[in-house]
Amino acid sequence: MKVMKFGGTSMSSADTISRVAEIVESSPDARFVVVSAPGKRDRADVKVTDLLYKCYAERRNSDNVDEAFAPIANRFLRISEELGLLGKSGFCLDGELEKIRLDIDGGASADYVASRGEYLSAYITAALLRRPFVDAAEIVRFDGEGRFDEKATFALCREKLDAKAGAVVPGFYGAMPSGAIKTFSRGGSDVTGAILAGALGAKVYENWTDVDGFMTGDPRIIDDPKIIDIITYRELRELSYMGAAVLHPESIFPVRSRDIPIRIKNTFNPSASGTLIVPTDKFLKGEYKRKELPLTGIAGKRDFISVQVEKSMMNNEKGYARKLLSIVEECDLSLEHMPSGIDTVSLVIDGSGIEQARIDAMLKKIKLELRPDRLDVIDGIALIAVVGHGMNRRKGMMSQITGALYKADINIRMIDQGSSELNIIIAVENCDYERALKALHSEFSI
Ligand code: ADP
Ligand code: ASP
Ligand code: MG
Repeated sequence: MKVMKFGGTSMSSADTISRVAEIVESSPDARFVVVSAPGKRDRADVKVTDLLYKCYAERRNSDNVDEAFAPIANRFLRISEELGLLGKSGFCLDGELEKIRLDIDGGASADYVASRGEYLSAYITAALLRRPFVDAAEIVRFDGEGRFDEKATFALCREKLDAKAGAVVPGFYGAMPSGAIKTFSRGGSDVTGAILAGALGAKVYENWTDVDGFMTGDPRIIDDPKIIDIITYRELRELSYMGAAVLHPESIFPVRSRDIPIRIKNTFNPSASGTLIVPTDKFLKGEYKRKELPLTGIAGKRDFISVQVEKSMMNNEKGYARKLLSIVEECDLSLEHMPSGIDTVSLVIDGSGIEQARIDAMLKKIKLELRPDRLDVIDGIALIAVVGHGMNRRKGMMSQITGALYKADINIRMIDQGSSELNIIIAVENCDYERALKALHSEFSI
């Protein structure tokens, strides 16, 4: 039995949804199908989820959302019409759209509004495939604090999903104990697919997207990235967390504990074998074979902030690092890295979407409570992760990395090597980010 998840590009139009239907129907062991909301049809297009967030924002400024809701309704009406579903018995898109419009008018939450893209996408796909539709709100649970509740979810999935009948399930959201809808973070339909696969003990979790597999570098930046045929959960986690957006970084957890492999496949080129994501231990024991390379992949993200704290004899002052970390926590900021020297320590924080006021509050507290000799903030930092089990105990990696960046005339702001020797993190200025990715990718000719 397998679970298949189709992403936004695969669900973007009637034409692409027909491809999805063909793939599902030609796959006899495809028991559960998870879908995203329609994504972009071309570069200039807008994802339905973004239209829904916009609609929610409009509702806060005015009493009437008709104008903002119209493109969303039209998109689903057009898809349904082109798929020949309008007028079919039991298919009532108008009713579904009207209910959603009224809910938004009535002040529905941002999470509820955003989730309706996946809801309608699954409603349409279930009708097309003539399979049961199961609302994610009935099977995916969050606790009262909004944290994903795996135990309750797995029990509900086993209770409510019948493996023989299969079902189409919307990705991206679930419900709190109160029934209120709650979404995962962006790209979260990947997590829903992994949850179903984990709960139902699937043989494989197939994640269908718009590229032939997980690549050695971001294909939007690197000219000739290669498809990685086998990658471990740990390598994938490092790369996806650091920006390789193919798969949501949290999709590994529900399948990892049950050793369920994930296969990345291309809806637009189904015969390509894709990438197989495998349990790390099994890979390290030699159960899976791949070409030996020093690196598996490179990924990165822009917009980090580095806060550099300097104080003489810092090392002799007991609890200095602990106090610093508690200040970060009190200011509700999350720390990505913390490289340190004898009298210095740096806090590397993901700055995207963080208001300046929170950073200022943290700096004020550090000054007041820790009295550093110097406190500097550098923003506009990009982090690049160089990842692979092949780096373990391999000599000369660091010199190759620094040499490649030196040749490309790029200044390195920080280097951090994980103790497992699975990854090396390099910080450069935002403006050097793309050149650094290219230089490293070509240095290792992966
Ligand atoms: P979906 O809508 O199917 O969930 P996403 O847009 O979330 O798809 O993820 C697929 C996209 O991820 C690709 O189109 C590609 O541009 C981007 N991407 C970024 N890094 C990588 C990488 N290392 N390998 C492959 N694709 C990548
Ligand atoms: N539709 C949601 C998003 O755009 C979730 C997903 O596509 O996985 O983030
Ligand atoms: Mg995605």
